[in-house]
Amino acid sequence: MFDKILIANRGEIALRVVRACREMGIASVAVHSTADADAMHVRMADEAICIGPPSSAQSYLSYPAIISACEISGAQAIHPGYGFLSENAAFVQVVEDHGLTFIGPTAEHIRLMGDKITAKETMRKLGVPCVPGSDGGVPTLDDAKRIAAEIGYPVIIKATAGGGGRGMKVAHDASEIQHAFQTARSESKAAFGNDEVYIEKYLTTPRHIEIQVFGDGKGHAVHLGERDCSLQRRHQKVLEEAPGPVITPKLRDRIGKVCADAVARINYIGAGTIEFLFENDEFYFIEMNTRLQVEHPVTEAIFGVDLVREQIRVASGLPMSFTQKDLTIRGHAIEVRINAEKLPSFSPSPGKITQYHAPGGLGVRIDSALYDGYRIPPYYDSLIGKLIVHGRDRPEALARLGRALGELIVDGVDTTVPLFHALLQEEAIQQGNYNIHWLEHWLEQNLA
Ligand code: ADP
Repeated sequence: MFDKILIANRGEIALRVVRACREMGIASVAVHSTADADAMHVRMADEAICIGPPSSAQSYLSYPAIISACEISGAQAIHPGYGFLSENAAFVQVVEDHGLTFIGPTAEHIRLMGDKITAKETMRKLGVPCVPGSDGGVPTLDDAKRIAAEIGYPVIIKATAGGGGRGMKVAHDASEIQHAFQTARSESKAAFGNDEVYIEKYLTTPRHIEIQVFGDGKGHAVHLGERDCSLQRRHQKVLEEAPGPVITPKLRDRIGKVCADAVARINYIGAGTIEFLFENDEFYFIEMNTRLQVEHPVTEAIFGVDLVREQIRVASGLPMSFTQKDLTIRGHAIEVRINAEKLPSFSPSPGKITQYHAPGGLGVRIDSALYDGYRIPPYYDSLIGKLIVHGRDRPEALARLGRALGELIVDGVDTTVPLFHALLQEEAIQQGNYNIHWLEHWLEQNLA
């Protein structure tokens, strides 16, 4: 086992990893930009090293700064959290070249899944059901028109290098294909330096269901059921729950087994998430994330496992601490993402927290790096906390969510908390009866 781990991240996820390290008796090293000198992850870690100016490119994304911080501190392994360098195959290679351990999958697996066309091809070969579409890249507008006509409108043009909901454009009919194709390509070129796109059938009323998988790198893997992340704004998740309100044990066992077998066959190591759209009782693979997800706590709640601890274990060469048989679901968990954003525009709202009070009580977990007097810097993601509730069943979890939101105080900046208060009043949310488009419609009618 490692003696010391460096956490190449900030905010709530850095804190999450510090907590796992402490419980395992492993020393933790925080890194931070000058803008984050007063951040909670810096205070909570055993050591902290400043690695550069506010710009992420020169700090949290800088290979030399992070590798030097490992050398200075004597850390043997790097936990990347999510975002930043967590799915960067070139970085993983550099980490390994320096004799350090990356807590996550291999560079090869990250590369394989990082390119969505290759990922889809690989998954199809491994028996995972995929969204119908172009088999591979679509180089010209004529190809796009031909393939769209074959699979039938509406279609979605997606960037093979895409992520974070960017580089995706829908064409509802033939009149929209040219514009969709060209904007998806140019957006992708600008955001990812790669303009390769592919086409998928655009599903009109799917839910977003993702399967948590975990592998030991030696051909063994398990699944930890699904998360329903259908409540989205601009393809970004807003609220997540587990288990999925419409997923039966039979559906879960079927898709879970397909996913666990697929990752076992490629000797996948660590945590991964296989994302699907789910419509008419069928699953359609869209992408795999080769890292810990923001929403992992809902899975931890219902299975009673610590996924970060498990990541650290397998990265150090130990076996997983559970088998599929040990994994049983207890109750229902819901997470809401609390962003420092002003409604209804969702524009970032950085600034000083004048008062902070975290809710507590049975079944309530807060993953947040906030504290009284903290100044949220304007340079990074607007996620400032996650509220996770766990109950014996979905109605209990919903009631607990309402109760916990009522106790939460975050003053000084605007947050998305009022959105959740309003959503909890909606019958569709109470019934679990929503798809990936529901929130956009609701926002248009209620917040515009
Ligand atoms: P990203 O990597 O940018 O998050 P994904 O491929 O995971 O992109 O898709 C993000 C979201 O976009 C999905 O959760 C879903 O809401 C929507 N989406 C993606 N593909 C389709 C599709 N074929 N039909 C309908 N919606 C889609």
